[in-house]
This record gives sequence, structure tokens and C-alpha cells, in this order.
Amino acid sequence: MREFDLVVIGGGSAGLKAARTAARLGRSVLLAEERELGGECFWAGCVPTKAMVRAAQVWHLVRRCSEFGITVDIRETSFARAMEYKEKVIRTVGGDGPEDGGLSKLGAVYLNTRASFENSHEIRVGNEVVFGRQIILAAGTIPYIPPVDGLEQVGYITNREAANLTSLPRRIVIVGGGPIGLEFAQIFRRFGSEITLIDKNTHLLRQEDIEIAELARGFLEAEGVRILTEANTERVETIEGGKRVFVRQGGELISFDCDEILVAAGRRIAPEYLNLDAAGIAYEDKRVVTDRFLCTSVPHIWAAGDVCGGYLFTHVASYEGKLAALNAFTDQPEPFDHRVVPRCTFIDPEVGSIGITEQKARELGLGVHIQSFSFADLDRAIIHGEPHGMVKLVVDDLDGQILGAHLIGPDASSVLAELAVCMKNHLPISAIADTMHAYPSFPEAVEAAALSAPNYRGQVDGATS
Ligand SMILES: Cc1cc2nc3c(=O)[nH]c(=O)nc-3n(C[C@H](O)[C@H](O)[C@H](O)COP(=O)(O)OP(=O)(O)OC[C@H]3O[C@@H](n4cnc5c(N)ncnc54)[C@H](O)[C@@H]3O)c2cc1C
Repeated sequence: MREFDLVVIGGGSAGLKAARTAARLGRSVLLAEERELGGECFWAGCVPTKAMVRAAQVWHLVRRCSEFGITVDIRETSFARAMEYKEKVIRTVGGDGPEDGGLSKLGAVYLNTRASFENSHEIRVGNEVVFGRQIILAAGTIPYIPPVDGLEQVGYITNREAANLTSLPRRIVIVGGGPIGLEFAQIFRRFGSEITLIDKNTHLLRQEDIEIAELARGFLEAEGVRILTEANTERVETIEGGKRVFVRQGGELISFDCDEILVAAGRRIAPEYLNLDAAGIAYEDKRVVTDRFLCTSVPHIWAAGDVCGGYLFTHVASYEGKLAALNAFTDQPEPFDHRVVPRCTFIDPEVGSIGITEQKARELGLGVHIQSFSFADLDRAIIHGEPHGMVKLVVDDLDGQILGAHLIGPDASSVLAELAVCMKNHLPISAIADTMHAYPSFPEAVEAAALSAPNYRGQVDGATS
């Protein structure tokens, strides 16, 4: 039986980072990936959807271009060509690198096969069983499919198929109002589909600040996305030429006819394919249980990325992959730092946040105040023709530390970066207020929110004051 210092299960953002980190430490490493190296992010998540977001944004801008002085007759739109753009982006981001992601160059072994536990040290990879002194589980998640009557028989798509459609469905019902559901809703709406989005919660984007989530809803509705919240998808049936979705909202049963049902109702782990029980790894529906060092219930088995639940983002997966690999080979493991994790939803305008919401701060009984600024008053946003959204900062009354930052506005995912640096380094909000920002720029919205402190005594004559 071949033995390795580390066996990594899954070759997405978390697994690749873990394998490369351990290999660079000089450890013998085997990584098993059953589909394609790169994982969900590369093939069916971040990269393709963000290319689709961009294509849909250009379609949207062209429709509004008369505002900027150009009159165009749109003679043809081609969803197929927009999807060709997405394909080109995937090829370019992937580059011409080696098919094993450079693992063999680092001395690691890559097997393109499914891995499953035989016991806590032995792992079946294809026809072989290998021994791992340490193991990192980085198997990601699969879409959670809610138990809706008739759904399996009638058929549905998830993000994988949605990112690979070759023709545009005329009417789509989207089940789920989280980041994935919202991104696809706007993408397909801008490409011309009729969209109905159904969510069981009171607010969309339930991880986000309520005010920001409500603004996001308003922006999508203004573009013609029909949104139902506190609505339960009850039943689905086939009708002539399409599908019918029955939704209960309040006491009322409403039906929507569509050509495609896109399920974006959350993610779950797939313990059945991994045989986690054979290794004695504790897990719940949506995550493998880990401690703050990313160690599972079995001391030499670690977990990284989406499989750990919580923040389902590529940058988190990559960070955890590295952390798990470092922790597996040290006596002084480092904990995962939950405090500063950027979260983004790539609708237009973008949603970006870090830290706790105002609602959470109040629940925790923390003494905080809110400092905010509207993009409607920001010169750069007005110049750009996108004066929408806001910056909202949750600030500790005692020491001016930023406990949470919540943005919806142009380029929010990038604007968020300075807040991340500030929070990571425990800088008070005055650090932003006292820093000169370029005029006219989107980060000035953050500066303006920082300057709006009631007791701020610094220089207040800047361009945005
Ligand atoms: C539509 C969509 C859009 C997204 N957009 C963004 C975004 O813009 N920004 C962002 O930060 N995040 C985004 N995400 C989230 C991001 O894709 C994930 O957080 C990230 O892919 C997690 O990486 P991972 O390595 O944990 O898991 P994955 O990428 O899921 O990789 C796990 C890998 O393990 C493999 N595997 C599973 N079981 C086995 C087994 N038994 N044996 C061998 N291999 C196995 C799988 O095939 C897979 O390749 C998006 C997700 C979706 C679905």
C-alpha cells in the first residue's frame, strides 16, 4: 500500500491550496479529484457566473446607452455568443498550465478519481487503497434540493447546468434568494428571460444586513424580476409546453408557468459518496464538524473549504486549505480567524460585507452606532451614472473599531478591501477618515461614511465632506 504524509480529497480551491502548501513544505502528497481540478468555482461558480454577470451587464448598458449620447438599433442579441464569451474567460483564467495544476512539478501525486474512506487512515482511490498519515477533506458541497412534490419527475437545473445552457429559457422560476439565486436572476433577466424568484425567508440574502438586502430586492424588481418572499415552493407539474410551479404565500396558492426551474436553495455535503462513517468523522447536514483549527472529530483528519459550512467562498476555501495543511504538520496550530471575511454577491450594484450586521450587534447587546453614506450623494457614482446604494458601518461606541461593514453599490466587492485591512489590523474608523482618498472615486463613499461620525474632530473639508 502506498503511504503519503498527506492525502487530500477534492481538487477545488481548498484542496489544491492544501496540496500545494504541504508539497512546498516537502511532504509527500496525494490529491484525488473525481471531476475536474479547479472545482465548483472554476467550472460552475465564480468564474463562469462572473463572466455571465459581465456579459449581461454589457447588454444592460447597451440598452441604456442613449443616456450617454449614443443611439443604437440592437439588430441581434445572441445568448449563445454571450456564453462563448464565458467559455473564453474560463480558458483564459485557466491558462495553458499543466493538466495536473502543477502538482507533479511540486512532487505531489494527482489522481483523477473518486476517493472514499475505508477507515480513518486508508482511502480508496479508484482501484487502489492508499494510506494517509494526515488527511484533508476538501470535497466541497453539492446543491441542496428541497423536498418539493414532483420536482424530481418534472426536472430542474442547478448552477452547473445554468452556467452551461446553450439556449436561453424564455421563463425561469428560481427557487432560492441567496447570492446564487440573485446573481442568476439578474443575469437571465438582462439576457431577456422572464424571472420569478421564490424565497421562503422574510428577506433575500438572509446573511446580509436587512436594509442592504431590501435595497438589493428593489434594484432587481426595478429591472423586472418578480420576487416572492415568505413563499414556499409546494408542488411542480408538467404542463403542455412547460412546467408549472405552485407556491404558497400566506394562505394563498399561486402558480407560475415556466420553461425551466433553477434550484439555488443552498448547498449540502455529500457524506454518502465519501463514506465518512467508515472514518468516524462527525458531520451534520450541511457541514463536516470541525474545531477552530479545522480539525474534524478525528485528530489526523482536517477539513477545508465549503465542506466546513459557514462561509461558502473561494477565498475562504483557499485560506482554509492553506491553514489546514499548515496545522496538519505543526505542534502549534493556528485558529481560523472569522472576524474579517469578505462576503460578496455579484449583482449590479454589488453587495459586499464584512463582520457583523447592525441587527446582530443589537442582539449581542453591543454598544454600537451606525455611520452611513448614500451612493446617490457620491460624485463618482453620479458621474458614472450609477448613483445607487449605500455604505453602512457598524462602529463600536467605545473605541471606534469597525465591527461590521455593509455595502451595496458600484464596485462594492473592491471598495470593501480597505475596510478589510482596517478591521484586520484593529484600526479605528478615524484611520479611514484621516486618510486622503482620490477624487472622484468609489472608495470615497467609505471615507464619507467614516467622516460622518458625530464626534469626529479631524479634517472635514475633503472633497466628500
Ligand atoms: C454559482 C456559484 C457562484 C459562486 N460565485 C462565487 C464568487 O463569485 N466568489 C466566491 O468567492 N465564491 C463563489 N462561489 C463559491 C465557491 O465556488 C466555493 O466557495 C468554492 O468552490 C469552494 O471550494 P472547495 O474547494 O471547498 O469546494 P469545490 O470547489 O466544490 O471543490 C471540491 C472538489 O472535490 C471534488 N470531490 C468531491 N467529492 C470527492 C470525492 N469523493 N473524491 C474525489 N473528489 C471529490 C469535487 O469534484 C470538487 O471538484 C460560487 C458558487 C456557486 C455555486
